[in-house]
Amino acid sequence: MVQTPTKLAVTPFAKKLTQPLTKTPIITLQINLGKKCNLACTHCHVEAGPKRTEELTPEICDQLIQLIQDFPQIQTVDLTGGAPEMNYGFRQLVETAIAYGKEVIVRSNLTIFFVEGYEDLPEYFAKNKVRVVASLPCYLEDNVDKQRGTGVYQDSIAAIQKLNALGYGTDPNLNLDLVYNPPVPRDADFSLTPSQVGLEQDYKTYLKEHFQIGFNNLFTITNLPIGRVKNYLELKDLHIPYLKFLESNHNESTVANLMCRSQLSIDYLGNVFDCDFNQMENLPARTKSGEALTVEKLIEAKSLDLIDLVATKPYCYGCTAGSGSSCGGSLV
Ligand code: SF4
Ligand code: SF4
Repeated sequence: MVQTPTKLAVTPFAKKLTQPLTKTPIITLQINLGKKCNLACTHCHVEAGPKRTEELTPEICDQLIQLIQDFPQIQTVDLTGGAPEMNYGFRQLVETAIAYGKEVIVRSNLTIFFVEGYEDLPEYFAKNKVRVVASLPCYLEDNVDKQRGTGVYQDSIAAIQKLNALGYGTDPNLNLDLVYNPPVPRDADFSLTPSQVGLEQDYKTYLKEHFQIGFNNLFTITNLPIGRVKNYLELKDLHIPYLKFLESNHNESTVANLMCRSQLSIDYLGNVFDCDFNQMENLPARTKSGEALTVEKLIEAKSLDLIDLVATKPYCYGCTAGSGSSCGGSLV
């Protein structure tokens, strides 16, 4: 098939880099517990939703528990989904990681606090000193409800009020961070994700003034063209132009801090990836000999450091454009 010149114009990510993207020792285990979620947001790269049923099995959960117990080098266990709280194994993984002295991050959509059966989550989080990272794609109601569904903004505010009442945002042991996702581009007038520092201040001022709520850090995350975002961009003929825009803003100084270098991302089947985005695009992490990894193989090999190079695709430019982007916000 003849490729159009525009398609040829996006440089393969690995070629753009001045050095190969090698792994550093693994310190973070990010576990995607499954695709069940009470919401179905337009920007969701996981394509999660209430109708999805895929989740961790007891067997894989046991293997993950063993991994957490066996490897002191794991400093952080980062739980995501879907709504991680709705998927099998959530509380077992939290409690094991805490018992073994790890930092535990839960990527919560907050509205789950108001779903029957999950009302005790704020107290559970505080008791276990879980770090809560929560999506609030804008501080204005309209923008949030357009991206995430009607009523999500008000539920998120009420949830933050609950967390604040328990000490989140003020007690140094109880961290609440918010995540900003820009809207999905609707035309070719692309822009970079705004400055994290400036936007954090805007969020803090607005939320304090209108709702008397507070939080610790704001993480700005670029929309990567995968999943629902990619489908939408393709429909509008914006997929390649968006990739080219990201490439033209590639910032080499972000590369040293890319999250994929020091983490493993595990799916609900126990497969190993370099990051959640590669997981969604089914691009597995491979050993030097080209073998795809699973949690079982890591346990057998008694090592987490079996991967030489990070697997990359053109959407990786979303992580290196401008100030960079990761699950912990901007990189430089
Ligand atoms: S809350 Fe998160 S996991 Fe659930 S649909 Fe929205 S973006 Fe996806
Ligand atoms: S998408 Fe980002 S985090 Fe994932 S491999 Fe590419 S650069 Fe690394």
